Amino acid sequence: MAVPRNRTSNARKNSRRSHHAKKPKNLQSCSNCGNPRISHRICPHCGFYDGRSVVNAKSE
Ligand SMILES: [Zn+2]
Repeated sequence: MAVPRNRTSNARKNSRRSHHAKKPKNLQSCSNCGNPRISHRICPHCGFYDGRSVVNAKSE
């Protein structure tokens, strides 16, 4: 197993982790019911995808 020769400094460790932040999810509104949904996913409110009903979601 490879063993690190030098200790990673706090600054180098923190600057490496500067890219690790989570980005907010890309929410878009459903074309059928207008509720927010994640793109390329079935709408969790009405069960529509690509203009047609795919699954039977919870009744309103
Ligand atoms: Zn919907």
